[in-house]
Amino acid sequence: MNKKSIKDIALKGKKVIIRVDFNVPLDEKQGITDDRRIQAAIPTIKYALTQGAKKVILMSHLGRPKGKVVEAMRLFPAAQRLESLLKENVSSLKDCVGDAIKKAIEMGSPRIVLLENLRFHKEETDNDPQFAKALASLADVYVNDAFGSAHRAHASTEGITKYLPSVAGFLMEKELNYLGQVVSHPAKPLVVILGGAKVSDKIMLIENLLTKADSILIGGGMAYTFLKAQGISIGQSLLEADKIDFAKSILEKAKAAHVQIVISHDFVIVDDFGKPAHAKISDKIPDGWQGIDIGPKTRQQFKEILSKAKTVVWNGPVGVFEVEAYSKGTQEIAEYLAGLKEVTTIVGGGDSAAAVSKFGVADKMTHISTGGGASLELLEGKQLPGVVALNDKHEKVAVR
Ligand code: AMP
Repeated sequence: MNKKSIKDIALKGKKVIIRVDFNVPLDEKQGITDDRRIQAAIPTIKYALTQGAKKVILMSHLGRPKGKVVEAMRLFPAAQRLESLLKENVSSLKDCVGDAIKKAIEMGSPRIVLLENLRFHKEETDNDPQFAKALASLADVYVNDAFGSAHRAHASTEGITKYLPSVAGFLMEKELNYLGQVVSHPAKPLVVILGGAKVSDKIMLIENLLTKADSILIGGGMAYTFLKAQGISIGQSLLEADKIDFAKSILEKAKAAHVQIVISHDFVIVDDFGKPAHAKISDKIPDGWQGIDIGPKTRQQFKEILSKAKTVVWNGPVGVFEVEAYSKGTQEIAEYLAGLKEVTTIVGGGDSAAAVSKFGVADKMTHISTGGGASLELLEGKQLPGVVALNDKHEKVAVR
């Protein structure tokens, strides 16, 4: 990584403001149903404390309150969960800028404060310079550890870097190292598994990886547009008719570049999505039926190709894994990846991350990204504004 990390800067006696991603799922009683994002921020928080930071000021967004205070989107449940994970008091503040907040931060204890949901102020998503400056005025050093928000140029991810020395936290560094390596110099062969519902979401990803991957394995809902492009009948399966030409051009480019593209060629099909008991395995998809998962022959071929990989990137489930009867393909691929030795396995955020968790193999993957949109943009070869804005490794920065 060519950006400064938290290890490159002195924190002793400093007020350190850390952009974390505490955008956690909540139930209707504001109970946190999955605290992985809070857990993922802990190494950076602990490091700042052990380095003698005077104050650790955490800030995050939660949901989409659109510039208004929404009671159900307050961050205090995250503060409470962090408190119990760290076994240290965390003060949950009622706002994120202003004199009262400054005063609360100047108090000696506790050492950790969590600002209120940044998106209660519309200036956050507007990347308003005054708001960014007000956030910056709370601290001496800025750390961005919110990889999942780094693809957005907001006040807390981009604007603030204009006023403070700005470095990456450990989670950010880890994400950039793993995902960055895939796009810059992956250990080869690089095999990419693509699934999920839509081709349109993955167009730039496919185009970018086409120049880097040795094999691209396509399953999930997006496979049917590629099959249609080859003149294969797909019955009532998902189709993006306006993406057939794109699919054709990708198949041609892959051929010219000697990149192997494998599209599912047998299927779990069903005539009524709501009646999984009707599901059967077939090489063909008759009219009135839809493909809902990859079939056993495709699974086998995918595994043979994966057995030779040195790097695997997985983005998108290969079937409707949420329904038991349609989940076998995704489950078998997840379990097969879990058993691979000396292979870097990288799972994109979102649904593929949910799938490896569901099948109990999350801890067997080399890296599961915490950011769906951000990981997609990195793999598309884009620069993330929240990363670009951090200080370069060799840049001289003055800490006040
Ligand atoms: P995405 O958000 O694009 O990664 O899409 C993930 C969703 O694609 C999951 O909820 C899957 O249920 C769905 N999906 C995967 N395979 C299929 C398929 N063959 N037909 C319809 N939906 C699918």
